Amino acid sequence: MAQSRIYLDNAATTPLDLAVLEVMMPFLTTYYGNPSSIHFAGREARAAIERARKSMAALLHVSPSEIYFTSGGTESDNMALRMAVAGMGVKKLITSSVEHHAVLHTALDLATEGKVILEKLPIDAHGRPMWEDLTEREYPEKTLVSLMHANNELGTMLPLKKLAPVLKEKGVIFHSDMVQTIAHLDLNLTELEVGMASASAHKFHGPKGVGFLYVHPDLPMHAMVTGGAQERNFRAGTENVAGIVGMACALEIACANMQADRKHIEGLKAALRKGILEAFPEATINGDDSEKALYTILNVSFPPSDKMEMLLFGLDIEGLAVSGGSACTSGSLKGSHVLEALDVAADRPSIRFSFSRMNTEEDVLRTLDILRRVLV
Ligand code: PLP
Repeated sequence: MAQSRIYLDNAATTPLDLAVLEVMMPFLTTYYGNPSSIHFAGREARAAIERARKSMAALLHVSPSEIYFTSGGTESDNMALRMAVAGMGVKKLITSSVEHHAVLHTALDLATEGKVILEKLPIDAHGRPMWEDLTEREYPEKTLVSLMHANNELGTMLPLKKLAPVLKEKGVIFHSDMVQTIAHLDLNLTELEVGMASASAHKFHGPKGVGFLYVHPDLPMHAMVTGGAQERNFRAGTENVAGIVGMACALEIACANMQADRKHIEGLKAALRKGILEAFPEATINGDDSEKALYTILNVSFPPSDKMEMLLFGLDIEGLAVSGGSACTSGSLKGSHVLEALDVAADRPSIRFSFSRMNTEEDVLRTLDILRRVLV
């Protein structure tokens, strides 16, 4: 009998929780009204969106009016950076070379268009942007700092609690791509003092194509998508009602079970890490290998191998889904800008294993078995 497949690419996307699908279904069938319509059908959809906003805001400890629904992490990142320039008077943008392309490419575009002076912070041996110096500086021009909370390839985390309040004090606008941490960590966005934060539902067992941008109420908004009054005039377009309802449900489930899920996933990550280092003593962990790293991601470089070119395909044939870098650019063998910035030797095949609560101990055992077969 063919064995079932193993999915360890949860940083790319997670399976939709069936309980989430169930909550979404009526909004794809019965409650199909356009939330902007004034009749009963529109009102039902509108009410569902506002219920979802309220529930999410409560779980993240912000006000509902600070949440703007978008089509996902990429749009939220674009919106944050472009809005900072178009609406908040930002002239200088500080980021790092290990950000997601949604931030990096947008930052480069803004710099090429002459709208900002761009600075990329160097990174340390764990792939963490060297943020300490930011707390010492003076900021003569209006500045946006955009640094991700957890790196999606490495799991290395930025100490937001230390950095965000200092930047706020200095009048710097701070955006954090929190796509890998929202719904995975217990977060109070108000206490964190970030100016803007991006999130995406499909990273926490919600549907694809929906996310949000949190914006602190003191920051002036600017519409980047125009042509409608949705999201208080700041993000035009008929809302993804079922997606928004599903995202709220997924966040509720994640927050209700966070401690237990975290413990379960930490156990899986530790077991896979141990098994890999036993089977491949020359393997090394990329990024932060301490308990400070995000518990869902394990990035490993294996010893040089002549199977490198075909490695992900070989694993795929064995029924193992993992990534060789960020899935947003790939699932492919195209070089990872993060591993490159980290100076990982180009002849060492690197694999990102990323977990969700739906993975099992059996997944880990079978993964180790497959790795031994394919890599040795
Ligand atoms: N930011 C990070 C850190 C991500 O990991 C991803 C997706 O992998 C994104 C942004 C993009 O999110 P979305 O797929 O919702 O556009």
